[in-house]
Amino acid sequence: MARATEIEPISPLGLTLEQFKAACAREGVGPGRATTAYHGVFRDGIAHEPPARLVIPEIVKRHEEPVDEGVTIKFVQRLPNPNHRLADKGIDFDDIESVIIPMKGRSGRKTHTLCVSSQVGCAMGCDFCETAQMGLMRSLRADEIVQQWWTAEFIEKIHIDNIVFMGMGEPMDNLDEVLKAIACLTDHHGARVAMSAITISTVGRVDGLRRIEKQVQQPGWGKLGLALSLNAPNDEIRSKLMPINKKWDMAELQQVLIDLREVRGGRKIMIEYVLIPGVNAELEHADQLAAWMKPFIRDEEREKHSGHTGLLNVIPYNPRRDSPWPAPTQEQVDAFIQRLMTHGVFVNRRRTKGRDTMAACGQLGTAEIRRRNLVPLTTNQTNNA
Ligand code: SAH
Repeated sequence: MARATEIEPISPLGLTLEQFKAACAREGVGPGRATTAYHGVFRDGIAHEPPARLVIPEIVKRHEEPVDEGVTIKFVQRLPNPNHRLADKGIDFDDIESVIIPMKGRSGRKTHTLCVSSQVGCAMGCDFCETAQMGLMRSLRADEIVQQWWTAEFIEKIHIDNIVFMGMGEPMDNLDEVLKAIACLTDHHGARVAMSAITISTVGRVDGLRRIEKQVQQPGWGKLGLALSLNAPNDEIRSKLMPINKKWDMAELQQVLIDLREVRGGRKIMIEYVLIPGVNAELEHADQLAAWMKPFIRDEEREKHSGHTGLLNVIPYNPRRDSPWPAPTQEQVDAFIQRLMTHGVFVNRRRTKGRDTMAACGQLGTAEIRRRNLVPLTTNQTNNA
């Protein structure tokens, strides 16, 4: 057996217990010690070193904003990156942003949702989104995704009930690492987050959604939550707002969601719609949106899937920095939702939490990087859908 000093310590973040045990075995560490170390990291928040190594980057920025349900906390962790493409402009780090959002369930129970980032920046270029403005810096590894959960649980000391991939980045641009992170987070021997408590949100990369279609048929993956950021009532508007729509249009998106519905046993899919005055907030837009949602609306006449399989989340637009558009008024939001309801759409109004700290949807992004980001994105980055 190797002496302790000869062991190369391993970070279990991003690994399942089985993967960690296999990595430990290569260092001559037995399964018993590996399991104890794994439990230490995920259940008690401590590293038995070696074999476990736990290096959690410092929180360099932290904002709290009181909301009705409690306090929204945004924390930013900084990882050194000497090879940063803006290193010559003095940026030699990556900032990873995460947000803890308090919620109140129907039963009145308080829960916390962690909004994680899957990338630093984003390559998708959506016009209304803050993160898009900084471009893609890099994709995160599975351990860097899981580390955000670990920080919420053991540094912020807040128990996380749900995890949404709605922070910085497009999860489908980094799907291997996102799926690895989810496998780790849901491991019964470790973090023990329920699969049904995790939601991947996407701009609508149909190739990625096809992979998810296969993935949810794997044992343990059936309850993975899914959200689609639709944000528009028709292709003309969607292609202007979200460049990805030029590659996969709304008809293709509708079809993949219909196919997903079959393999997901009618489980609801969340459709996100950021309501932007002057862009997609007219009543006729509500009519068009309802028509697109038709396959996901309850239909008494059909026996199969007679429930609602699409839940529409209307998100009042949070103006990004230098935004050409305002936030919608309460009346605009109400009128839009009312109109959707007359078509039988199942609608949820997402209240804005964390607008002041730029922690709300689509407001994550480092101003510092945006200001210095004079380097044009390479074609590879802008077109990597
Ligand atoms: N790339 C993924 C996940 C990150 S965005 C996706 O697009 O789904 C998470 C959500 O924030 C998306 O639904 C997006 O439409 C929304 N969003 C982006 N910018 C916003 C803004 N300025 N105001 C409100 N919501 C915004």
